[in-house]
Amino acid sequence: MLQEVKEEMPLQEKKDIIICNNINKWFGKLHVLKNVSLTVKQGEVVVILGPSGSGKSTFIRTINGLEEIQKGEIYVDGINLSHDVADVEAIRKETGMVFQSFNLFPHMTILKNITLAPMWVRKWPKAKAEEIALNLLERVGIHDQAHKYPGQLSGGQQQRVAIARALAMQPKIMLFDEPTSALDPEMIKEVLDVMKELAKSGMTMLVVTHEMGFAREVADRIVFFDNGEIIETGTPTELFDNPKHERTKLFLSQIL
Ligand code: ADP
Ligand code: MG
Repeated sequence: MLQEVKEEMPLQEKKDIIICNNINKWFGKLHVLKNVSLTVKQGEVVVILGPSGSGKSTFIRTINGLEEIQKGEIYVDGINLSHDVADVEAIRKETGMVFQSFNLFPHMTILKNITLAPMWVRKWPKAKAEEIALNLLERVGIHDQAHKYPGQLSGGQQQRVAIARALAMQPKIMLFDEPTSALDPEMIKEVLDVMKELAKSGMTMLVVTHEMGFAREVADRIVFFDNGEIIETGTPTELFDNPKHERTKLFLSQIL
């Protein structure tokens, strides 16, 4: 489905595309991110696990500037996100995000949903935007749905459109926040398969998910959040087969 294949260069030699240094965020008095530090290499797939309310969504939203932080630093592709609004705008163009609720524009066709941002933000002519959109729909396996409206598609198809829409902006990083949580079980696989292909193509991905099979198979690294902190990180084997912290063990015992 995808042509590019992950380069053979070992991850440790690749550049750091996301750097979070001791980031802190409060919602009023609620301290939701507590000295969170995480560095992600280009092409790395990081899965974020943790109980509900532990700060996973807030964390990934800080990376494309959807949430402001009060302390610490975030660099995305060398740009410091913590200061300038113009920089936040620049980074948002490079960062695709896929949410639990697909967030498609209901009154626009699938094709229009995908071409809108590239035409407005990237200033692509319509023909170019449509050509790329149709290629992306092919890539996510639903090119025949281009002229339908979101309401005429299944949840799994809508989520694949949402992924195609994010990819149309040619982002350097893709953020996924529980992309399959709202789907019926039979549609989860078709979305995870698209994400697996994307990972293989070398996309840098941060994925909040409870899909342990996906995490084990696709993640280069797992990060476990609890109560606004990163408690433990490791490869899937390290984290699933040999968790070190009690809180990680407890979480895994409940979910696996
Ligand atoms: P998770 O994604 O791990 O379930 P969240 O990042 O959504 O966790 O939430 C972390 C904490 O921040 C929770 O206690 C949640 O209630 C709180 N929270 C999230 N968004 C807001 C907001 N916009 N205003 C106030 N509190 C919020
Ligand atoms: Mg969440």
